[in-house]
Amino acid sequence: MTGGRLGIVGLGLIGGSLALSLKGKRGAPEIWGCDRSRTAVRLAREAGAIARSCGEAEIASCDIVAVCVPVIRSVGLVRRIARNMRPGTVLTDVGSVKRDVVRAGEEAVARGASFVGGHPIAGTENSGYAAADRSLFRGRTTILTPGTETAEPALRRVEALWRMAGARVVRMDPETHDHVFAYVSHLPHAVAYALVHAVATLDSRVPLGYSAGGFRDFTRIASSNPGMWKDIMLQNRREILRSAAHYRRNFAQMENLIRRGDGAGLLAYFRRAKRTRDRL
Ligand code: NAP
Repeated sequence: MTGGRLGIVGLGLIGGSLALSLKGKRGAPEIWGCDRSRTAVRLAREAGAIARSCGEAEIASCDIVAVCVPVIRSVGLVRRIARNMRPGTVLTDVGSVKRDVVRAGEEAVARGASFVGGHPIAGTENSGYAAADRSLFRGRTTILTPGTETAEPALRRVEALWRMAGARVVRMDPETHDHVFAYVSHLPHAVAYALVHAVATLDSRVPLGYSAGGFRDFTRIASSNPGMWKDIMLQNRREILRSAAHYRRNFAQMENLIRRGDGAGLLAYFRRAKRTRDRL
C-alpha cells in the first residue's frame, strides 16, 4: 500500500498496535481512528498513532477500513460501514472468528467495494490502547480469509498493509479458519479457564504456591480478557462445542487407562501426544 487513507475502528490492543506499527513506515497511509472510548482516541492522537479522529459515518470515506472491535460487535459494525464504502475501497477486520463476519461483509459491501476478513495471530493478555505495541505483529502471522466473493486486488492491498506492519500473511478459507482455531486456540482457552475454575471452586484449599509444577504454565492464558473470550466462545460455538466433545472423548480414554491401571496404554497415549507436541 502506498499512501492513501486507512481508517481504524477500535483503537484497542489490536487497532492501536496496527496504527503504531505503520507509523513512520515508507508508503504508510494516513490513519484516521474511531473508537467509542474517548480515552483510547485521546491516547492514540497524543502518541501520533492516528492523524485524526472521526465518527463511524466518516470512516467509510477511507481507502481501507479495518474493524478492530470485539468479535461480537464486528458483524453489526461491518454491516453498517460496508454499505457506505466507495467503489474501489476495501473493508477488513481482525476478529478471532471469521465465518459470520466474512458472510456479513460480503453480503453488505457496497457495489465496487470489497470485504477481506483477517486475523492477526498476535496478542497479549492485556487489552485497550494502553497495551498497544508497535512491534506486536513483527515476525507474526496474519491470516486472511477470502470468501467466494473476495477480489484478488483487494486481498493484495490488505496483504501489503499487514506486511508493512511487520507480519507475514497466509490465506485460509473462513470455515477452515474457525475449525482450526477452535482446536489451536479456543479449546485451549476453554480448558485453561475450566481448570482454574475447578481449583477455584474446590472445597479443600490447594495452596497455589506450588503451582510451578504445571499449573502456572498451563493456565497462563486463563488470565486473558474474559470479555473477549466470552465473545469468541459464543461466536464460534458450533466448532468449539465439537472440539470440546472430541476432547472429552480423549480425556475419558485417558481416565479409563488410569482406572484400569493400564501402564502400557498410558505410555502409548502419552508418547503419541509427546510426538505431536515435539513437532511444534
Ligand atoms: P480491545 O483492546 O478491548 O479494543 C477494542 C476497542 O474497540 C476498545 O477501545 C473498545 O472500546 C472499542 N469498541 C468497542 N465497540 C466499538 C464500536 N462499536 N465502535 C467503536 N469502537 C468500539 O480489544 P482487542 O484485544 O484489540 O480485540 C479487538 C479484536 O481483535 C477482537 O475482534 C479480537 O477477536 C481480535 N483479536 C484479538 C487478539 C488479542 O489477543 N487481543 C488477537 C487477535 C485478534 P470500549 O473499551 O469502550 O469497549
